[in-house]
Amino acid sequence: MFYFDNFNGKKILKSSLLQDYDCFFTTRDFPLTAGALENIEPECSINRLSLKKQLGVQNITTAKQVHGCNIEIINKNTYFYDNTDALISNIPSSLMLLNYADCVPIILYSKKDNTGGIIHAGWRGCAAEITAKTADRMIKELNIHPENITALIGPSIGKCCFETDEDVFLKLIKDKSNTELYTKKGNKFFIDLKMINKYQLLEKDIHNIDISDYCTCCMSDIFFSYRKEKGITARHSAIVKIKGDK
Ligand SMILES: [Zn+2]
Repeated sequence: MFYFDNFNGKKILKSSLLQDYDCFFTTRDFPLTAGALENIEPECSINRLSLKKQLGVQNITTAKQVHGCNIEIINKNTYFYDNTDALISNIPSSLMLLNYADCVPIILYSKKDNTGGIIHAGWRGCAAEITAKTADRMIKELNIHPENITALIGPSIGKCCFETDEDVFLKLIKDKSNTELYTKKGNKFFIDLKMINKYQLLEKDIHNIDISDYCTCCMSDIFFSYRKEKGITARHSAIVKIKGDK
């Protein structure tokens, strides 16, 4: 179950599945990345310092997200990855961050192995199955058993607001018989991107999944929404800190 929590006086979104872990989603109350709202960069800069201080880390590992399917298992001392939409780490005390305004944020974490991942899945990432591929790399390259992975599918644009034409529908929906994934109205399609990611996780035998009900577009008072704000918006973030001493 998702719930709003307080992080040093700022509103964040956490899940009961990872309650005792530093794995969460930020809100408009705690922006870390200004995006097109250049005027809030000073606030974001202060918030990034506060995040590092509260979590006791020197660096934040992040990426230039390009709606692609490149996944990086991070190295010590590399804090920025170009052309990357998913990060994985098993380095104790490493802190990873990716940014969103409507795209689906996914956090993966194995409490047993203290190994985590963070995924940026817009519709292109969903179509390229970036979530399934990230889970696969954790499972195969880092020997994580899927049963030990907890997955959080965070706030994103919902089925209520993600209206597309048939071209996007055909790229996203492989199983047209699964009406959990979409609703057709006239010649438009309303697609549930969060549910697409859930099915990608289930296919990888990950069943411990919490899925947020929140639509960023309907709730643009709490989250940033690229669609609602016509691109003139900042970003909320997904945060994963790997437990353990350096
Ligand atoms: Zn909505």
